[in-house]
Amino acid sequence: MKDVGEQLAEQLKKRNWTKNYQQLIRDAFGDKEVRAFIQNNQTELTQEDIAKSASKVYEFVSVKNKIKRGEETLAPGYDPQLILNNHLIDVTYVPSEALMVQKKRQAVHNRVRSINMPKNIRDAELADYDLEGRELAAEAAGRFIEEYTSSPKKFHRAMYLQGSFGVGKTYLLGAIANGLAEEGVASTLLHFPSFAVEMKNSIGNNGTMKMVDEVKRTPVLMLDDIGADQLSSWIRDDILGVILQYRMQEELPTFFSSNLDMVQLEKQYLTTNNRGEAEPLKAKRIMERIRFLAEEFRIVGRNRRQFKK
Ligand code: ADP
Ligand code: MG
Repeated sequence: MKDVGEQLAEQLKKRNWTKNYQQLIRDAFGDKEVRAFIQNNQTELTQEDIAKSASKVYEFVSVKNKIKRGEETLAPGYDPQLILNNHLIDVTYVPSEALMVQKKRQAVHNRVRSINMPKNIRDAELADYDLEGRELAAEAAGRFIEEYTSSPKKFHRAMYLQGSFGVGKTYLLGAIANGLAEEGVASTLLHFPSFAVEMKNSIGNNGTMKMVDEVKRTPVLMLDDIGADQLSSWIRDDILGVILQYRMQEELPTFFSSNLDMVQLEKQYLTTNNRGEAEPLKAKRIMERIRFLAEEFRIVGRNRRQFKK
């Protein structure tokens, strides 16, 4: 086969195009990928077809080089690709590997719904989790992800993470949620005290119960900082109680984190009714549901917040 560039130059000369443009086109046809493409499709392409495709070939090479130089293109994230289109060479744009990776990451992030949670748990990973003082919890977390993703229809008891301020409870919840998201499982992480305040501020509002309804149905729910909420029998019975009752009935995994252990939490939830009386039965009922849903893990260690750079 004669040199494509040379043949093209001849044709272009006939058409009397500017010298500069001719040179650009010649360079484009000298591109390795272009040559290979023409070679592979030579039965389909006449010299005239190739000449007619010059602007597309030029587009292909110039976009490709722009990407190589790290410059912005018209369709960022998309790589040009040569195709045959009705006996002409054409350029199509396909998502680049980097874009696919980014989209996949986005899809993973989208599976974790965070409500009033700190941003830094977005990238929390079990693999990065410093094990000191939480070997058991980290191991159980890994096991949960494995067992849940291999049989999501079965009931899996989740975890109740107890430990003092700053030991990494919230971080571990985030890491579990992200680990599940990697496997395609959606979860909702909820900072319970803030949620309780929001609920209280919107009593009687249609949105309140809709929100509770959404939260209670999420495949995996994580209630962060439970017990740090302001005491109110309405939050306990009509919000938390309703959510937990549903989760228990439907056997939906529910995680908790708290500064309090379960015994302390029960005391906290005694609260008082409007008449100022403690309600041990109601507190017990909440605890029964929590115990059904989650196993208690104690996390010890230093307060990591004080050691942050
Ligand atoms: P808690 O919820 O128990 O109060 P956090 O989960 O908020 O504590 O953790 C406190 C700080 O330490 C956060 O900034 C968190 O990102 C960081 N952190 C906690 N655990 C780890 C870990 N295993 N590896 C790296 N950073 C961690
Ligand atoms: Mg926390």
